[in-house]
Amino acid sequence: MRLTVLGCSGTYPGPDSPCSGYLVEHEGFRLVLELGNGALGQLQRHCDIRDVDAVWVSHLHPDHCLDLVAWSYALRYHPQGQRPPVPVHGPDGLAARLAAACEAPPLDGLAEVFVHTTVSPGTMTLGPFEVTTARVAHPVEAHAVRLTAGGRSLVYSGDTAASQALVELARDCDLLLCEASWASEPAPPPGIHLTGREAGDHAARAGARRVVLTHVMPVTDPQAVLAEAREGYTGAMHLARCGDVFEV
Ligand SMILES: [Zn+2]
Ligand SMILES: [Zn+2]
Repeated sequence: MRLTVLGCSGTYPGPDSPCSGYLVEHEGFRLVLELGNGALGQLQRHCDIRDVDAVWVSHLHPDHCLDLVAWSYALRYHPQGQRPPVPVHGPDGLAARLAAACEAPPLDGLAEVFVHTTVSPGTMTLGPFEVTTARVAHPVEAHAVRLTAGGRSLVYSGDTAASQALVELARDCDLLLCEASWASEPAPPPGIHLTGREAGDHAARAGARRVVLTHVMPVTDPQAVLAEAREGYTGAMHLARCGDVFEV
């Protein structure tokens, strides 16, 4: 499968990247993981925005889903007419959250373009992907996901603080796309995100074969995050950059 980074800035857009967005392709199927602020623009560099087969959203924070609102306008008023509704898989409440961000009641505009399915921990099939979801540690309901296709596996952490569930979900995966929002100094608030050191530790404990660090906040020094992550994980490790492509 192929992973393309549409956006990797943590919490809010930075000067070099939109917020979270990842395009995962396999056998012609296009799955978009997250569509945070600005990621819709980058998506247009890689495919026609009418040619996405499914969307998966980890949690309801705007930096992971708000561009679904912008996308809904593009789909509703496209000069070639509306395509069939896009399947959107996300936590309970995603449809209402997006509708509230989009328009005042009656809230029905998004229903024309998206068909929502509530995600809960477990395994389902999405096109060619086996999709396994696990609950991770964040101030709101949040999920990590493991995508398996063609004998390869990609695990995405979503937003999480230290999480044994993430370690288990990422066991022996081919690529772990792991959030590392902060460096360890100054000490960040607990229970929200991983530091670089924690991300490296999680990757090592999981036995991940390759790691891409993402969701680094604009105020965080990415090289400091990478350096401390490498203290705990000695395999191949990269910092995500907008536009990066990884063959998994
Ligand atoms: Zn986030
Ligand atoms: Zn979040």
